[in-house]
Amino acid sequence: MLLAHRGYDVTILEKNDVPGGRNRNLQDGPYSHDTGPTFLHQKFTLDEVFAETGRKPEDYLDFVKLDPMTRLTWGNLSLETSCNRQQMAANIEKAFPGEAENFLRFMDDHAPKLKTIFPCLLKSYHSLSSYLDPNLIRALPYVATTKSVMDVLSNYFKDDRLKLAFTFQAKYLGMSPWNCPALFSILSYIEYEHGIFHVQGGLCKISEAMAKVVEEEGGTIRYGAEVEEICYQGKRAAKVRLTNGEQLACDQLIVNADYAHARTTIFGKHKQSDEAMRRKKFSCSTFMLYLGVDKLYREQPHHHVIFAEDYHRNLADIQGERVVSEDMSFYIRNSSVTDPTVAPEGHSQLYVLVPTINTRHGHDWETTREAYADKIIDKIVASTGMKDLKEHIVTRKIITPTGWENENIFLGATFNLAHTLSQMLHFRPQNKLKGFDNLFLVGGGTHPGSGLPTIYESARITSNLIDQTYGEQHTPVDFASSILEKTAS
Ligand SMILES: Cc1cc2nc3c(=O)[nH]c(=O)nc-3n(C[C@H](O)[C@H](O)[C@H](O)COP(=O)(O)OP(=O)(O)OC[C@H]3O[C@@H](n4cnc5c(N)ncnc54)[C@H](O)[C@@H]3O)c2cc1C
Repeated sequence: MLLAHRGYDVTILEKNDVPGGRNRNLQDGPYSHDTGPTFLHQKFTLDEVFAETGRKPEDYLDFVKLDPMTRLTWGNLSLETSCNRQQMAANIEKAFPGEAENFLRFMDDHAPKLKTIFPCLLKSYHSLSSYLDPNLIRALPYVATTKSVMDVLSNYFKDDRLKLAFTFQAKYLGMSPWNCPALFSILSYIEYEHGIFHVQGGLCKISEAMAKVVEEEGGTIRYGAEVEEICYQGKRAAKVRLTNGEQLACDQLIVNADYAHARTTIFGKHKQSDEAMRRKKFSCSTFMLYLGVDKLYREQPHHHVIFAEDYHRNLADIQGERVVSEDMSFYIRNSSVTDPTVAPEGHSQLYVLVPTINTRHGHDWETTREAYADKIIDKIVASTGMKDLKEHIVTRKIITPTGWENENIFLGATFNLAHTLSQMLHFRPQNKLKGFDNLFLVGGGTHPGSGLPTIYESARITSNLIDQTYGEQHTPVDFASSILEKTAS
């Protein structure tokens, strides 16, 4: 939508019949599910991207700021999170006596940390000399450290469970907080300071709104158009061939498909081998359960995360990429308490996400998927107020890690290449892909990385790089600076 607005002749080739990819609608009878994302954080980035086209997201979408945000449960103990600092401090003090002060210190320290790191995520890193950028130099103490998110949190909180309340946001990255680089402690700060949003109808409506903007701006979206191969003239991507044999020429080519999948399949003579790609580090995957329910659990929260009894073991299982945990952490979204549009009256739809191993070492999900889903439902019954859930399930859909892999996601790693220091900034596949004259990337596999606001930022970086190819300069819309300045002062 950015490029169409800037006057480029844009054609989007989408293999699915609907827009959104991981953030698409999954309709199951009368129940309307989000396939992937359910938390919209850092909304100012979405506002900026729409503003770049002279629009507001509110013209297309109905946002609800959630407060309380998420219930976190460890056995009999629960914490309700809030983006109201005083409320959050009070909730923490009640659940974890003596820790409220630590929370306030965390928030105070992270305002300048975010303000320092944020500008580094807005630019591309095509050469190592880009590391000399003054913004990055200022951010180095936060970025160039071997410390993990968990190490950072240990400087603030005593109780391990409370530390987890500041790490589950790393789920957008699919990484264990013990391995996730320290800089990502900004993710929980962003949520607790700036809040999280639901979109009525589901977050997939954001993708649908963007598709509408593309068409309003004169762009073309072709659904059911799967690219089979990129064809080159020297270092130029000259055309793409679709699976139906049709060929389309291009001046510039932007690849949004999962990078590792695309690079090992559709890159033609520049394809990389699976073996080489598998040497990289990948995120975890997710086991998904989408339930249509003929009852509405009004007392249950919109977002609920239930931690495994032995969450250390659970995270180690996922990180080890071999063992599917029987004692798993999981997340339930009961958005019907906020949103009457996603299920018939008196009904609800539940979305259940279980972080699990990617498919690197294989696991027979075909024969185990139904039993695993039953086990998760038993756990929901045992650990929430949905005691009669089993009697009310009318539809059930599952996506396993193998299912994600079948959707063109390499190793079923739903959050892309892992966000380790060796696979970030200059070392992540670059927005203008090295070795080609006119081939660009966008989405979670390129810089800055996975997660909705992050991929929107990648779209902006890539669009600006295309502008540069034509000698154009684009002044970005910037709402973030003043927002971050205000919270840091
Ligand atoms: C279960 C889950 C939960 C998540 N939760 C959150 C959350 O709460 N908040 C958050 O911010 N982020 C969340 N994320 C992360 C977020 O969804 C992703 O980072 C983001 O959607 C990735 O977008 P993308 O454009 O990189 O990839 P995709 O959305 O996968 O887009 C790639 C597109 O390319 C198409 N395609 C692939 N191959 C071809 C081909 N050969 N020809 C034509 N088209 C092709 C695909 O169909 C797809 O539409 C979640 C992700 C998942 C999977």
